[in-house]
Amino acid sequence: MKIAVLPGDGIGQEIVAEAMKVLRALKLPMDFGEAPVGGVAYEKTGHPLPEGTLALAREADAILFGAVGDSRFDNIERSKRPEQAILGLRKALGLFANLRPAMVYPELADASALRPEVVAGLDILIVRELTGDIYFGEPKGIRMTDGEREGFDTMRYRESEVRRIAHTGFLAARKRGKRLCSVDKANVLDTSQLWREVVIEVAKEYPDVELSHMYVDNAAMQLVRNPKQFDVIVTGNLFGDILSDEASMLTGSIGMLPSASMDKNNKGLFEPIHGSAPDIAGKGVANPLATILSAAMMLRYSLNQDAAAERIEAAVRKVLASGLRTADIAAPGAKRVGTQEMGNAVVAALGA
Ligand code: NAD
Repeated sequence: MKIAVLPGDGIGQEIVAEAMKVLRALKLPMDFGEAPVGGVAYEKTGHPLPEGTLALAREADAILFGAVGDSRFDNIERSKRPEQAILGLRKALGLFANLRPAMVYPELADASALRPEVVAGLDILIVRELTGDIYFGEPKGIRMTDGEREGFDTMRYRESEVRRIAHTGFLAARKRGKRLCSVDKANVLDTSQLWREVVIEVAKEYPDVELSHMYVDNAAMQLVRNPKQFDVIVTGNLFGDILSDEASMLTGSIGMLPSASMDKNNKGLFEPIHGSAPDIAGKGVANPLATILSAAMMLRYSLNQDAAAERIEAAVRKVLASGLRTADIAAPGAKRVGTQEMGNAVVAALGA
């Protein structure tokens, strides 16, 4: 199994180093190749996604990504900014499906803005389509109409695009609680009406998965009212953008949440949802768990190593249950450990 390792900027280096320790400790046949991306790559080569890095990512079975972003490059032209590396990778590799779990470990339920009993034990997955919808539909623009400016965008999905993401949703549900909720706005939007029809067609191939449908406005409400009712949610790019951020905030701890962006052959890019955290970079205090859990997702979704993924997730649960906390998830006054100490603890918990 070939893994491209792209640590990137800020805390990226520190957190990816811990995830690598955990992966190596599994002693699976994995080859790692590392390359610069983001601001560090721009500094070295003049481009945030150099040819060599892209080539490494193309050849790999999966990509483990840290974070990109460096305020020193805020004023350079947009196409050269560190963050463009992610968009470039998504486009070049055809990563069309974004998988974002939102989990609340019982020990961390107090970090949520919601009441602990509403979120404790939460474990949902949002599957968001990444390459279509109103963000890319044409025509779009700002034009003059009757003497005033008018902005317009086009929401569109082809049935092949809906079918593809629906399969991703059903397959993910099959690996979890076997329930899929498709979120749309079929009461108002024709695009959504087609979306719903196609999802229902695809459902015939997954008789073991229970399908339901929900309008997006209701889904936004249900996510804060009773988020534990969901298993997997599948939705389009626009609705998924909003709902996945809403779901991540249910957990209250950005340093804990992994994500995956997948292509049609199950190759994926795995990264924490947080950024390069320049305010704490280099201090050895960043929480590596989101990246370690991203490595677990990589094993499950790209490398078909479900047992190894579960080993990592169980180790993380064990470490949290033992009371270890980085600063971002520590209760006031509680003892805090650094990035490396947390990584080492997960490695130690793997063995037991
Ligand atoms: P951020 O996610 O980097 O940080 C937000 C806050 O959360 C900060 O206070 C940070 O210290 C804290 N935080 C984040 N990750 C943490 C961790 N693992 N452990 C402990 N605390 C953590 O978001 P931001 O500050 O808005 O952005 C910083 C840079 O990251 C910007 O350049 C932005 O463009 C970039 N960014 C990149 C990605 C990505 O690489 N996918 C995603 C979001 C932001």
